[in-house]
Amino acid sequence: MRAILLIVFGLFVLAGGGLAFVRCEGSPPGVSAPATLALGRTPRQVAVEVFDEGAGLRDVTVHVIGKDGEKLVTSREFGGGFVSGSEISRETIEVPLDGKALGLGEGESKLVVTARDWSWRTLTGGGTTRTEIPLVFDTRPPRLSVENTQTYLQRGGSGVAVYQVGEDVVRDGVTVGELFFRGHPFPGDTTGRRVAFFALPQDVPTDPPIRVIAEDAAGNRSAASWGTHFKERRFPEISIQLPPQFLQNKVAELADARGIDAADRIAAFQTINSTGRAEDERKIREVTRESVTEKLWDGAFEQLRNSKVTSHFAEKRSYFVEDEKVSQATHYGYDLATTAAAPISASNSGKVVYADDLGIYGGCVIIDHGFDLFTLYGHLSRIDVKPGDLVSKGGVIGLSGATGLAGGDHLHFATLLGGVYVDPVEWWDPKWIREKVDAVFAVPSGPAIAETPARPADAPAPDVAAPAAAER
Ligand SMILES: [Zn+2]
Repeated sequence: MRAILLIVFGLFVLAGGGLAFVRCEGSPPGVSAPATLALGRTPRQVAVEVFDEGAGLRDVTVHVIGKDGEKLVTSREFGGGFVSGSEISRETIEVPLDGKALGLGEGESKLVVTARDWSWRTLTGGGTTRTEIPLVFDTRPPRLSVENTQTYLQRGGSGVAVYQVGEDVVRDGVTVGELFFRGHPFPGDTTGRRVAFFALPQDVPTDPPIRVIAEDAAGNRSAASWGTHFKERRFPEISIQLPPQFLQNKVAELADARGIDAADRIAAFQTINSTGRAEDERKIREVTRESVTEKLWDGAFEQLRNSKVTSHFAEKRSYFVEDEKVSQATHYGYDLATTAAAPISASNSGKVVYADDLGIYGGCVIIDHGFDLFTLYGHLSRIDVKPGDLVSKGGVIGLSGATGLAGGDHLHFATLLGGVYVDPVEWWDPKWIREKVDAVFAVPSGPAIAETPARPADAPAPDVAAPAAAER
């Protein structure tokens, strides 16, 4: 009996020792959080991850240390026990940060995350990790002043704004209703001057709110608007008859390329013209997401020489087979027709970002002209450029054709600004370019206006009464 007791006791000690060894694990919990935090007027949530590979998580507390001392932000207990530990080894805590409610003063504070595990390493508290994150509370909206903007805007048209922002700005641009058009550094400027081109989509609500906005790292936002005149426009509505040979040959060919069943030609056309078209537009938005922050174009854009306009921007198209309407779409470019296989040239200087087949657009070239402005050339029968090529205005990029969803040889020409189709007519107009675009870039940088040429201290003062002198 004694022997059995001894064995049991021995086993107990061994097991206890083993458990103690395991549970005295040496690594305290880990904390994964942003290295620094910026908090603005608007409360925000910050995700903090805590983890422990040994005995499991016990609890976590989050404090701020500001000018009024320490304040509890949030805490969490993970359950478990001294003997069993906890099964929770990894957890993400959403920490709500409201600077005003927490009594933070403007300027620097600290966010302190304290995580404990169930380790027996210390007699009382378990393994503890304390992480301090510098936090800046800043409720002042960033500096923003609008310098030069376009006043007359039209549905489907383009606009530009030049403005100045403070150094702490992390995001700026122009908002048109819900849409955002990013700003770029103004060429040759180092004083926070920015330029943003923006589009007024063909389907924008009448007289949309247009603002220049600037946001800092803390999420504070400044906004400025200016007096605009919005010109309403109506776009043509046209009917297109789908001829039998178009359905027979073209639709079969396009359906084949997309892996669509073409047994029912009308159904295949409907799929190509709806989901196929939408896929192509997504591809175009993807291609035009990045742009050179440099004005590569020079002067007015060129319309295809000696071409006849056969379809206009934002035309609403209804497609018919005999008397039945089978599909509809909006046409986002101009159709320009000359002779078959006519040489197609770049309408302005820029960088080729796409040169390949693109669904309904057939053989397609897309050129980046800088500052989020792109031109698109569709239905080409031959492409003579490749992505990365720099092309100059008038340089041949390929030959016209009837590839893609085209009934005959023509060029589909479109202009995009920030991923939104705009009417090329403005960009083709030398007067519009001169007055609305070139004028904006011609304005010298901020300090250059204020600065006067240096003159020696002993030189006579300049004649400030020059107009009066002229009257004499
Ligand atoms: Zn077209």
